[in-house]
Amino acid sequence: MVDLNDSVWRGLDSAGGNAAEALRRVLEGGGAFRENMAILGENLSHQLTWYSATACVLPHLAALCPRLSPADRMFLIAQMGPAAAAEAEWPLSPGTDVYREFYEGINGLRPVVKDLIQNHMDVLTAASEADRAMFALGALAFLGNRRRAYALWHLSGYCWEEGPAACSCGWECELFDLTADSEYLEAADIAPWDGKSLKDEAVWLNGLLSRLGVEEIPLPRLYGTAACPECGKREPYWTMFDCYWKAE
Ligand SMILES: [Zn+2]
Repeated sequence: MVDLNDSVWRGLDSAGGNAAEALRRVLEGGGAFRENMAILGENLSHQLTWYSATACVLPHLAALCPRLSPADRMFLIAQMGPAAAAEAEWPLSPGTDVYREFYEGINGLRPVVKDLIQNHMDVLTAASEADRAMFALGALAFLGNRRRAYALWHLSGYCWEEGPAACSCGWECELFDLTADSEYLEAADIAPWDGKSLKDEAVWLNGLLSRLGVEEIPLPRLYGTAACPECGKREPYWTMFDCYWKAE
């Protein structure tokens, strides 16, 4: 963990500058925790970009969690989800100091997220709708596929109504309707979730969204099967999304 007074912080970037000061306010801010946490989260995830200060902030937040209420821990995970997920698009090099800090933070926060999901569903369901949706995507960023979590934040920019796709045949840059099944996009039949297991990503994420009452995210279609309007090839929607992403 990098000390808040270490000169290392001056070489790390964040959207608002001086991430160490924003972190200090979170750690010492007392009653203003959520306000300070929201400022730190925005500082590190502005425009869904990766900021290197995130790597050194995460271990401090993991160490803070035992002193927070479950509701504040949920808020922390929701705020830091986009910042952590962005690493998937700007991957850190193994062996570097920031890489070690990042994984120290991720590994420290994973049990926090698991505990919230498995033992504090009453707290999660009592949060605001926006916080419930952000927490679910944050949970994916910390427990599962960070790239997929990042893609879901990207898709939230389309208000969950349309999803971009492209095909290896060269067809690209079209939007699939995510609001209804169509000949081009068929929803996956996702098995029910037992409320505990975190093994199958589509199952637990879909189950978590459902228990949290987050209805706007069309997960079965996003984990469903798409068909290319040009060549007719059928493959997972995520494969066609990745193809669009690569072409960007
Ligand atoms: Zn095609």
